[in-house]
Amino acid sequence: MTRPRFNRILLKLSGEALMGQGQFGIDPEAAAGLASEIAAAKGKGHELCLVVGGGNIFRGMAAAARGFDRATADYMGMLATVMNALALQNALEKQGVDTRVMSAIPMASVSEPYIRRRALRHLEKGRIVLFAAGTGNPYFTTDTAAALRAAEMGCDALFKGTSVDGIYTADPKKAADAQRYDKLSFNKVLSDDLKVMDAAAVALCRDNNIPIVVFNIRQTGNLAEVIEGGGTATIVQG
Ligand code: UDP
Repeated sequence: MTRPRFNRILLKLSGEALMGQGQFGIDPEAAAGLASEIAAAKGKGHELCLVVGGGNIFRGMAAAARGFDRATADYMGMLATVMNALALQNALEKQGVDTRVMSAIPMASVSEPYIRRRALRHLEKGRIVLFAAGTGNPYFTTDTAAALRAAEMGCDALFKGTSVDGIYTADPKKAADAQRYDKLSFNKVLSDDLKVMDAAAVALCRDNNIPIVVFNIRQTGNLAEVIEGGGTATIVQG
């Protein structure tokens, strides 16, 4: 199946992508590995922006289940995404890629505040924009932040980097007979409750006609290939 070559894309990475072999936190080698994947994709001439999660450091819901006030815990989760964005920025700049971190929670000493028109200008100038602090609101996730920023930036697609090469009929790590879908509709993802992104994010992409491309970020060279319309991935659209 051929997929289109998208020009402007938003890449969503979960915080776990930064853990490497560890169980928690940020592994500089994992950050460097991700940065080289992103730099290679950027080298193909695409406009790229990124949303990174915070689950490798702090998850609001999990903390709330252990007794934290939910909104406070969510703010802590958003702060975790800022640490991840700075780590990725550092790794990307070591590879000579021009970047800007824009935070939904203003943090003037370490990032720019998120201003939509300014972010668009950065993209037009060829910079990679890393959107930090999610949506800036508790009770949301970075998946929803990714869908929101993809819509605001006029992205042609949202790329979701995972540890598998697409969406399967069942968890391929548990069910040997699980089949990978080449393409799926938004409504099928929602009605079958397929665990791709949370439902709010999928609905936002559906309502704004932004295809979601699910691919394996851990495979070397894969992002650059999938972004050009090749490689293996599942596309959610229509
Ligand atoms: N979060 C939030 N609002 C947002 C985005 C994130 O409150 O708009 C908080 C929430 O507590 C979440 C945490 O930040 O658990 C980390 O983000 P997420 O769990 O989405 O990270 P990922 O699973 O992608 O690593």
